[in-house]
Amino acid sequence: MVNLQNFVQELYAKRIEDCSKEELYYALLSLTKQASGVLAANSKKKKVYYISAEFLIGKLLSNNLINLGIYDDVKRQLSDAGKDLLEVEDVELEPSLGNGGLGRLAACFLDSIATLGLNGDGVGLNYHFGLFQQLFENNQQKAVPNAWITPDSWLTPSKIAYEVPFAHFTLTSKLYDIDVPGYKTATKNRLRLFDLGSVDDNIIYDGIQFDKQDIFRNLTLFLYPDDSNREGELLRIFQQYFMVSNAAQLLIDEAIAKGSNLYDLADYAVVQINDTHPSLVIPELIRLLTARGLSFDEAVEIVSSITAYTNHTILAEALEKWPLEFLREVVPHLVPIIEELDRRVKANHPDPAVSIIDEYGRVHMAHMDIHYGFSVNGVAALHTEILKSSELKVFFELYPEKFNNKTNGITFRRWLMHANPRLATYLDELLGHGYHHNAAELEKFLDFKDDLSVKAELEEIKRHNKRKLMHHLEVNQGVTINPNSIFDIQIKRMHEYKRQQMNVLYVIHKYLDIKAGNIPATPITVFFGGKAAPAYTIAQDIIHLILALSEMIANDAEVSPHLQVVMVENYNVTAATFLIPAADISEQISLASKEASGTGNMKFMLNGALTLGTDDGANVEIHELVGDDNIYIFGEDSQSVIDLYAKGDYVAEQFYKRPAIKPLIDFITNEQLRHYGNDERLYRLHHELINKDWFMTLLDLEDYIKVKEQMLADYDNRDVWLDKVIVNIAKAGFFSSDRTISDYNRDIWHLEA
Ligand SMILES: *Cc1c(COP(=O)(O)O)cnc(C)c1O
Repeated sequence: MVNLQNFVQELYAKRIEDCSKEELYYALLSLTKQASGVLAANSKKKKVYYISAEFLIGKLLSNNLINLGIYDDVKRQLSDAGKDLLEVEDVELEPSLGNGGLGRLAACFLDSIATLGLNGDGVGLNYHFGLFQQLFENNQQKAVPNAWITPDSWLTPSKIAYEVPFAHFTLTSKLYDIDVPGYKTATKNRLRLFDLGSVDDNIIYDGIQFDKQDIFRNLTLFLYPDDSNREGELLRIFQQYFMVSNAAQLLIDEAIAKGSNLYDLADYAVVQINDTHPSLVIPELIRLLTARGLSFDEAVEIVSSITAYTNHTILAEALEKWPLEFLREVVPHLVPIIEELDRRVKANHPDPAVSIIDEYGRVHMAHMDIHYGFSVNGVAALHTEILKSSELKVFFELYPEKFNNKTNGITFRRWLMHANPRLATYLDELLGHGYHHNAAELEKFLDFKDDLSVKAELEEIKRHNKRKLMHHLEVNQGVTINPNSIFDIQIKRMHEYKRQQMNVLYVIHKYLDIKAGNIPATPITVFFGGKAAPAYTIAQDIIHLILALSEMIANDAEVSPHLQVVMVENYNVTAATFLIPAADISEQISLASKEASGTGNMKFMLNGALTLGTDDGANVEIHELVGDDNIYIFGEDSQSVIDLYAKGDYVAEQFYKRPAIKPLIDFITNEQLRHYGNDERLYRLHHELINKDWFMTLLDLEDYIKVKEQMLADYDNRDVWLDKVIVNIAKAGFFSSDRTISDYNRDIWHLEA
């Protein structure tokens, strides 16, 4: 039991009642750090090093209180003193160490690795400003630095430092740790974030601009700095090598400290390469092992037995290929190693499609991972099948035994207990606590399908969460929403393949329909949230269209009582925590075959929203679990889409000409909307949709509108709708990241439980 009053008394000589929320936050930070500080670090022999460019960990206060088992206690002591934990949490700045699903997955995994008592640390970089912070100005996105490091934070400086050699200089790193306590465990793991002492915030100007060549000052400033030019690409290589050289040195040091002679490294360590950003860890480990006296062959064999690769996407743009010439400029000492690895591949496999260095002298990072790692996994069943049957087919034929699927998951500590405490407490009352450690037990909730009092309580919880979101948006964005409307939510990075543009076209359809006199039975609020990469023009244009449309509708007194569009500023974990529990409709509308898994879809399901989606990524598995009656699926399936790409015979203009589609597209450039927008952006988007539409928005648009209308009509049949909600929550157990991590451990890591 914690005694917050005593703690606060000692710190400030005050009563809780008399403290500001800042004082309470820093008291709780200190209390929580102390509580996790006394937990012993997991010391089991073998350890997984989860190396990732991103860890989208979100605010940590509540999550750590939950895991340390003192959340309810602290919350009650605060409320007894008239204080609200939600307001105290508000003081914490969200660490901006990730971009989207990939980084959030890494964060959920750390939580589950610790919770299962496995020995495993995350290794990454301590970006001072992470991904940019998003502001809206003139209905457009503006990117500014996202500061999150305060003098007192979750970061604990360590004494660990390594020398990292580059072509023209050597940098000395500095390691910061963030404790990762598992859920009610006796030991903890850590997130290890490497930094560079000479980095200097003062070189930033004009939003997020800075001198890309000033490596001493810029190295750990930003996650994913703009790489649309040569300097930007070189900086990415500097960052990646800095990350993996530190990780590799840490791994070797820790193994030796535990008694490894390096020949037995596989008994001490396994490396999970999260996407291709950490791929240089393979040649780096080989370099370090040979420097310690192992032969090249021995080093290759050992490294190949400890590295495993996770593929997160089939979009070609995301499979990194670095020109060998760039690597020579930044890390010349790795080049002969990579060339030798490539020579061995070419000697065994004449097919140029599988070589590491291609005919243009580009190094395919994923190819290196597949040849020299022992495991390749996709992140959802469909995704892994597509890797095997098309995207990585040639590799699957070479190494069928390496390929395996690990369907993504989410931690219920954050996405249920923290995000939706009312629902969590209610499930505890009905089902007991068994599902906390065995999420499959959520299925017991199915027994309550016909219980009217359960349905009434679910309604009440949803209303509560809608009001909580309403309050949050009022305070943070000055937007007022209707808590009695249907909350239809699409929150995820802005990307054409995720097809926010299709949802916008629906909004236009609905607007015109209301104008024509068809008033919806229940008002609808359509929420969007997501950042667009600063160099991704079309994604910026889509944000612009959403913001312009939102303003136009708000100013239309005929329509605004029935339809509202809200673009949530700076979508991040904090925003997700408010949005997801309030949702009725979860928009998962990617072009089939293009979304590897998605994890947002799982969070919504767990929180009682119904999915409106394509049969893509993990939606396929949600669909199988809940059955046709409890999900709204539309659009072409993945095989048809793959065939369309193969034949190259999708022509957007043919769809544009259809009478149901043309008015929606042309609305983008009509005078009424242009009044709120920027001609250049709106015309460019209009042109793009008609002439290119690479992600086939128009292919599925009519079916989308039809199924969405059906879904909105079904919403008003509350009894039937709530049946579906219950099935979705009950079946969400499969998507616990505890299940995912047990699968990784069983098939890939083999750590002592
Ligand atoms: C879960 C999550 C994501 C991933 O969402 P998808 O819909 O799966 O793309 C992205 N950002 C944040 C902040 C998240 O919490």
